[in-house]
Formats: sequence, C-alpha cells, structure tokens
Amino acid sequence: MNGTLLEVSGVSVTFDGFRAINNLSFAIGPAELRAIIGPNGAGKTTFMDIVTGKTRPDEGKVVWGDMAQSLLRMSEAQIARIGIGRKFQRPTVFEDQTVTENLVMALRAPRSPFAVLGWRAKPADMDRVQALATEVGLEDALPRKAGELSHGQKQWLEIAMLLAQEPKLLLVDEPAAGMTLAEREHTTRLLVDLAKTRAVVVVEHDMEFVRRLDCRVTVLHEGAVLAEGSLDHVTSNPHVIEVYLGR
Ligand code: ADP
Repeated sequence: MNGTLLEVSGVSVTFDGFRAINNLSFAIGPAELRAIIGPNGAGKTTFMDIVTGKTRPDEGKVVWGDMAQSLLRMSEAQIARIGIGRKFQRPTVFEDQTVTENLVMALRAPRSPFAVLGWRAKPADMDRVQALATEVGLEDALPRKAGELSHGQKQWLEIAMLLAQEPKLLLVDEPAAGMTLAEREHTTRLLVDLAKTRAVVVVEHDMEFVRRLDCRVTVLHEGAVLAEGSLDHVTSNPHVIEVYLGR
C-alpha cells in the first residue's frame, strides 16, 4: 500500500514562551522505516509526545490513515488503540515474570487492566505468545524470568509486548543504547523486518546504527525539519554539518 499513514503539518508547540516545535511538517508511509536524528533539544521527544497525544500542539494538524482522521482530540489511550505504539528508551518489562507471562499480560492488558487477574492462557493465546516471541528472536527464552534477560533481550521483549497490540506505527527511542555489538545487529535486523509490514520511526543519536538501518533520515533542528533523505544526503548538507559540528 502506498500513501501516507501519519501526516503532521504546520505543528508548533510553545513551552513557557519557548517554541520547542516550530511549524514542523512530517509524513510517513504505512510500511516505512524512518530515522529521526538531531542534536539535543531539537524537539525529537516533543515530536513523539505530540504523535502519541501526550503533548497538544498550539497549532497545526496531525492526521492518521486513509481517512485522514485527526489525532488532536484523541486521548493517549485512544491513540494507542488506533495503532500507535511507543517504546521508551528504558525497557519496562515485569522482571519477576517470565517472558511468556509478560507477553500474556501484553495480550490481555489493553482490554482491561483486570483482564489478567485469574486468567488462564488458552492454546490460541499461547500460539500468539510463541509467534510474538519468535518475531523478536526470544522463542528460546519463553520460560525465563524477564529480570534474567540481557539488556538487549529486555528491549526485544518490550517490542514484542508492543506488537501484541498490533500497532501500525511503532515509535522507538534510541533502541541501540547500551547494547552489545551482537545485540545491535539483531536490533537492526528486527527493526528492518518490522518495517516491512508497519511504519517504524526510530529516534537515534548513534549515526553508525542509523547507517545500518539504511533508511530515510529526517534531521530535526530547533523544532523543524532541517533536512531529509538518505544518511549520506543529509550528512553532506552544510546546514546539518554546521548544527552538528559548528557553534
Ligand atoms: P530532544 O528530544 O530532541 O532532545 P526535546 O523535545 O526534549 O528535544 O526538547 C525540545 C526543547 O523543548 C528543548 O529546548 C527543551 O528544553 C524544551 N522542552 C521540552 N519539554 C519541555 C517542557 N515540558 N517545558 C519546557 N521546555 C520544554
């Protein structure tokens, strides 16, 4: 499917008189991998907060899907339900529970926080747990406690927990931070694979990791898009060089 999944246009956000997002426009297609880079304070986190409904823009539009549905009046929970999942940098898995139990909770919890109480997994749910674990490469870790997993494995578990909600757009904050080389390679392949069937936006500081993703890159600066294109294209842009190396 071609077209646009998410379109942000002319969005601005002001915090106490400071324009953190300044007339920002951004669009992503339904099966696209995109990296967002930019120096500290560029507006990357605020951008993700806007898309997930945590921060309301002062002006502009944020529209979703074929029907160009506005996200601006939706609650964070509604936005999550229509298919936008967000992965924060630090994994928030249930350390005392097994990988299977974490995934079962992720499958049940969106329906009701109480749906997990006294609930026994049915074979169909276990098939889904198995499929989610396999999708992120944790199929051999299902019986293990999440607290015993490596940092990388916890991140993948959290991604699998988000996938349980079948997001159409996944926002991922610095997925490679703190990972070993092998974990970074696994994460690269995982994100590339996930973006074959859904949109994935990766906010990342690590240029080497962005290079491996081999995707379109959006450079944010002072709350607006400074450059967009391949990594080589944007990093040869004199304005981008000035922002990263100058001043
Ligand atoms: P990035 O994630 O690219 O580092 P942020 O989106 O966190 O950038 O921040 C963009 C700018 O907005 C920064 O200058 C930051 O200090 C400011 N900012 C972010 N959130 C708030 C807030 N709640 N109140 C005031 N200023 C904020």
